[in-house]
Amino acid sequence: MSLIIRSSAIHAAGCYTTAPIKKGTRVVEYTGPRISKDEADEKYQDSPTTYLFGLGDGSQVIDGHGTAMFINHSCDPNCETDEIRGRVWVTAIRDIAAGEELTYDYNLYDGADDEAICNCGAATCRKTMYSEDEIKKRARAAKRLAKKAALNGKNGASPSHSNRATRHK
Ligand SMILES: [Zn+2]
Repeated sequence: MSLIIRSSAIHAAGCYTTAPIKKGTRVVEYTGPRISKDEADEKYQDSPTTYLFGLGDGSQVIDGHGTAMFINHSCDPNCETDEIRGRVWVTAIRDIAAGEELTYDYNLYDGADDEAICNCGAATCRKTMYSEDEIKKRARAAKRLAKKAALNGKNGASPSHSNRATRHK
């Protein structure tokens, strides 16, 4: 497999293939040390950028290190990620031509007040890298907050903490 890292139109650096990839191919493993969610929160509490990948129920994360951490998010991706026996693989979900940038849907969750705006440019772009479930959860939380603020006659509540350790799954 011939993957290269170079600057991307989507975001900073991206991962590109120099050879065609067939649908269903395991392209690259998302490698890195396994740490607990608490360790990750501690380590990255002041960091704007993280490459954490949530495993299983999310209590363990991969602290991304290697080629796969450069793969950008897209709302109309050409890859997906599969967790197989504790390892995470990036797999092609369609045929990919030589020169294309590899992408998968980050489906972010647990990012606190991080906006995670998406600029993937896909026709189906949902304008955020958060998962559909997370978007719904956030909408409900915002509604509750607005209601509370209205009751208190105050202009919104401040978040209780700022955890920028956004994970994808
Ligand atoms: Zn998008």
